[in-house]
Amino acid sequence: MKPVGITTTIPVEAVFAAGYTPVDLNNIFITDMHAGGLVEAAERRGFPRSLCSWVKGIYGALIARDDINFVIAVTEGDCSNTVSLLETLKHAGKEVITFAYPYDRDPAMLRCEIEKLAAKLGTTPGEAEKIRENLLPLRKKLHELDRMTWEDNVVTGGENHIYQVTASDFNCDPVKFEKDLDEFVEAARGRAPFSGIRLGYAGVPPIFSDIYSFLEERGAHVVFNEMQRQFTMPSGGETIVEQYLNYTYPYDMKGRVADIRSEIEKREIGGLIHYVQSFCHHQIEDIVLRESVDVPVLTMEGDRPGPLDGRSRLRLEAFLETL
Ligand code: SF4
Repeated sequence: MKPVGITTTIPVEAVFAAGYTPVDLNNIFITDMHAGGLVEAAERRGFPRSLCSWVKGIYGALIARDDINFVIAVTEGDCSNTVSLLETLKHAGKEVITFAYPYDRDPAMLRCEIEKLAAKLGTTPGEAEKIRENLLPLRKKLHELDRMTWEDNVVTGGENHIYQVTASDFNCDPVKFEKDLDEFVEAARGRAPFSGIRLGYAGVPPIFSDIYSFLEERGAHVVFNEMQRQFTMPSGGETIVEQYLNYTYPYDMKGRVADIRSEIEKREIGGLIHYVQSFCHHQIEDIVLRESVDVPVLTMEGDRPGPLDGRSRLRLEAFLETL
């Protein structure tokens, strides 16, 4: 199966239905042993320093992969930099097709986008729907892992993050991913429950490599990862269109805030970390989020891949002490 790079979560069912293997370029970038080097390679190519490192990392990761020549880029509902990124990718000889989430959550528009995507990939929405049904049991297992994080307290926030964030492409192989997940869940069931300050994490996945372990070592238990959980499609839906309408990330803040508020209450969260990426337009949404939840919020900003810097460590420690 030929690999297709994806720049964010898309209706991945259409990719599998067309016989391609989706590869989430964010995961390729951030798990690279030299992730910082990929960002620097993009800067040497001319990407500005004052641009989000994820965008540069995606570019650097893709240019380094000769086997991925085909990319699906989301031009609406994800990143304001994607259109410029895809211009550079096309210039570098990669084939790019686009997908757009309608900002107003219009079902007809989303159906049309899924039909267009399926057609460009050489399949149909009906075939994608069959794949969706096949993937539902795997998605349910991810929801169970999430429940074990906040209710049984036997899965750490870091483990929860890794398994859920991987739902964007199921690590390129849903069968193997499901087997790994089964083994992990089975082993986790035998653990003694964790206790500690119950935290939520909202915003895009962190560029810091050690934020979860840092918090866990200081007695905090992250019981909610907002965006990563959304990648698993927790609200489901009767059809592929409904499933991707219920996915909160690409649309307005109203849906995200409602989701975050209800999970804060259900999971008995005492404080929320809102992670924002340097030079990312989502930073502005911090204003809305801070004024919409009833628990203390710490806004954390990250720039380059790697461990937490001294200032961020101090701020996290102070936040935990406050709680
Ligand atoms: S963090 Fe923001 S600017 Fe960076 S890739 Fe994601 S959406 Fe784009």
